[in-house]
Amino acid sequence: MNLHEYQGKELLAGFGVKIQKGLVANNLEEAISAYETVVSDSGNPVAVVKAQIHAGGRGKGGGVKLVKNQDELKEHAANILGMMLKTPQTPGGLNGPGKLVRKILIAEDSYAPDFDACKEYYMSIMLDRERKQNVIIYSTEGGMNIEEVAEETPHLVHKEHVHPTLGLQAYQARKIAFNLGLSGAAFKDMTQFVKKLYKAFIGTDASLFEINPVIKNANDEIIAVDTKVTLDNNSLFRHPELAALRDTDEEDPTEVEAKAVGLNFINLEGNVGCMVNGAGLAMATMDIIKLSGGAPANFLDVGGTADAARVEHAFRIILRDPEVKAILINIFGGIVRCDRVAQGVVDAYRNIGNIKVPIIVRLQGTNAEIAKELIDKSGLEVRSAILLQEAADLVQEVLA
Ligand code: GDP
Ligand code: MN
Repeated sequence: MNLHEYQGKELLAGFGVKIQKGLVANNLEEAISAYETVVSDSGNPVAVVKAQIHAGGRGKGGGVKLVKNQDELKEHAANILGMMLKTPQTPGGLNGPGKLVRKILIAEDSYAPDFDACKEYYMSIMLDRERKQNVIIYSTEGGMNIEEVAEETPHLVHKEHVHPTLGLQAYQARKIAFNLGLSGAAFKDMTQFVKKLYKAFIGTDASLFEINPVIKNANDEIIAVDTKVTLDNNSLFRHPELAALRDTDEEDPTEVEAKAVGLNFINLEGNVGCMVNGAGLAMATMDIIKLSGGAPANFLDVGGTADAARVEHAFRIILRDPEVKAILINIFGGIVRCDRVAQGVVDAYRNIGNIKVPIIVRLQGTNAEIAKELIDKSGLEVRSAILLQEAADLVQEVLA
């Protein structure tokens, strides 16, 4: 689950990380009152207006504006609220439709009082799956172009792996501050920043923190100016306060709908829709589709208790995708009985009606033969297979 910048900042502040302070606003009125509060707290009429969407690169797309007074605040807040913001990270990139901005953050100018004395750094924390350790990635080249830095000057991007049981050691935080070229008060503040940031990462069961930029201001303070936070969905059950931060407006509407009916669904770009029980079998099915010359249109795990209603809902979701040229249903009957699932498929097919996409059903496990018979005798244009290879061959045949 992704958080908005303003939510990520509040989360970090809760762990004592210094952040660019600000208030979120949903409309112009709230923006004006947020601005009043922010400038009276900071003692500086300069503030930043920042579009809140689940995508980075907002500065490049015109979603981050510095304002010097209330008139400028009104102008930019009115412009950004409701705009379709295009950034390199919104769907389709700069040529895509962009994302609707529903919220803005009014934040203090963290670069005051001396912009030129500020320095921008990059820092992120994520899991390095190969090393099976969390890794802190950091660079002196912070700001808006970290992807280019990583490509053109990879030696300027440093990595510090953290032992899973020992945790982040004090010497590691010092090493990071040293490699960032800091000394004196800024060095000390950076070690504190890194330690608190890592604590927040562990404490929230996050899978990604990306702080770009982290800045050192003229007073040698280290501050998080931007935050990108991804939390592990599988840990949300133990963080109800974090689960409540979910913003479904930012998510794929089909995925939101699927989740609400207990389906584990992810939209992909291929031409073969798939419906499978169990995540591992779903992954294997996607591989088999690829090997048969197709590409999966989705990942879909209907769960261990695939009943007729769920099968039907899953069908409807898959069929909505105009790219889908075939559907492969792959169910292993362990706890579920294959004949029940087959009946669900037949019922769903009849209820939905007018299905033009060829459907291949592969049922294996308890009562697989009865299920195959049920489907073969239903008179529907559904082809059944028992072996995965047979199903793959059928996919190949219908795509040809
Ligand atoms: P992103 O473009 O989506 O990554 O948004 P950021 O929050 O990183 O902001 C983009 C850029 O705006 C930063 O790299 C800064 O250069 C600039 N910026 C952000 N906050 C401030 C601020 O308080 N003062 C000034 N002067 N510039 C800021
Ligand atoms: Mn940024």
